[in-house]
Amino acid sequence: MPGKTAASAAARENLDPIHISEQQFDRAVGYIKGFKKGLFEFLRKPKRITIVHFPIELDDESVQSFKGIRVVHNRVFGPGKGGIRYHPDVSLEEVISLAKLMTWKCALVDIPFGGAKGGVVCDPKNSSERELRRITRRFTAELFDVIGPHTDIPAPDLYTSEQTMAWIFDTYDVLHAGYNNRPVVTGKPLEMGGSPGRSEATGNGCVYATRRFLSKALIPDQQEIAGARVVIQGFGDVGSAAARGFFRAGAKIIAVSDSSGGICNTEGLDPEAVAAFKAEHGSVVGMPDTLTITNEELLEHECDILVPAALGNQIHAGNARNIKARLIVEGANNPTTPLADTILAEKGVYILPDILANAGGVTVSYYEWVQNQANEQWGLEQVTARLEARMHAAVDAVFNRWQSFAVGAEVPAGVAVEGEAAQPLPDFRTVALLIAIERVARATLIRGIWP
Ligand code: GLU
Repeated sequence: MPGKTAASAAARENLDPIHISEQQFDRAVGYIKGFKKGLFEFLRKPKRITIVHFPIELDDESVQSFKGIRVVHNRVFGPGKGGIRYHPDVSLEEVISLAKLMTWKCALVDIPFGGAKGGVVCDPKNSSERELRRITRRFTAELFDVIGPHTDIPAPDLYTSEQTMAWIFDTYDVLHAGYNNRPVVTGKPLEMGGSPGRSEATGNGCVYATRRFLSKALIPDQQEIAGARVVIQGFGDVGSAAARGFFRAGAKIIAVSDSSGGICNTEGLDPEAVAAFKAEHGSVVGMPDTLTITNEELLEHECDILVPAALGNQIHAGNARNIKARLIVEGANNPTTPLADTILAEKGVYILPDILANAGGVTVSYYEWVQNQANEQWGLEQVTARLEARMHAAVDAVFNRWQSFAVGAEVPAGVAVEGEAAQPLPDFRTVALLIAIERVARATLIRGIWP
């Protein structure tokens, strides 16, 4: 009874975000040689945690208390960098694990930032714009000097937007008058110091990473995007930009979804038409000439490339065996659990992991930050060319290192994680992580441990 086995596997899986990030970290560190153990213990922990509680007057004049979190994991390469998410399920554990992920992501694409993340426990879907503005301003004021253009730089994430970033900038600027405060936050509106190409950068980065990866010919009959059948979970900033990018590159987008459900048409969907329908009706569901499917069905749909671009833990022990894609491109952070990684590796499904696939967002955030230092604005072509080159370099670094394992040069006896068989050939997540961890460890030693 495969259904029952899958359900019990899913039930056994520990989805605590810290546990998951430790498992991923341990898998990677198992392949790294030549550093003192204590250094990795340091890299495991966040540098600083800030938790604030603050009251907000809601539109109905009642008062509600909110919890806001900002975590800096590491600042060895530069200021902390990472998004702020608004969601009812935001937890300290999740924010810590996402701050860590940002450290590895920035190191992997070689930008001079450390890792940070923030969140407010709130329900943005059921809050008015005025309420969200008050939450944002008050959270920013509570953080005061916890964030700063050279210490910790927020950006958009789940259910935060350019508008949220404009409010953060404005509040910070009022509280720190007399300085060029534009670089305190990235993902701002174009008119307010944002960068051309930032809002589509994460989705486009997924496309550039996929194109480069396919060109390595690991999937013999799929060496380019053109002709690939693509399924995308999530139709927010990341999912919709990825859909447009894959479509432009000649792929057939056969299914997309949002939090209300999914739509499918094996003849192919036009992302512009889907976006227009969603803008008018609030969801992709109900689009003419499409079949309505659930988010679960969407993930298991027959396709070549699956792009999870919504929430975490979507591909897990309970559904990994049913995934039919040959390549998973992680537009979201942490969409795949460690047990699912193992199952998918056994099935021969490749995964371009979050810290590689979705690093386009923070890369263009870095370009925005550079532009803001000089109060300049680059052209879209310049941003696009630089982003593409950096994504290609990151894919090459991961692929080349992976190949060195594949030819047996560095294979250790096996790196086992809790209840699993030894895994001699690391997957791309492990390789991407180990490159990033090595870079941060090396930089820590080059700086010298103070005092
Ligand atoms: N929230 C995005 C991420 O997880 C972007 C972060 C940033 O631009 O700083 O990568």
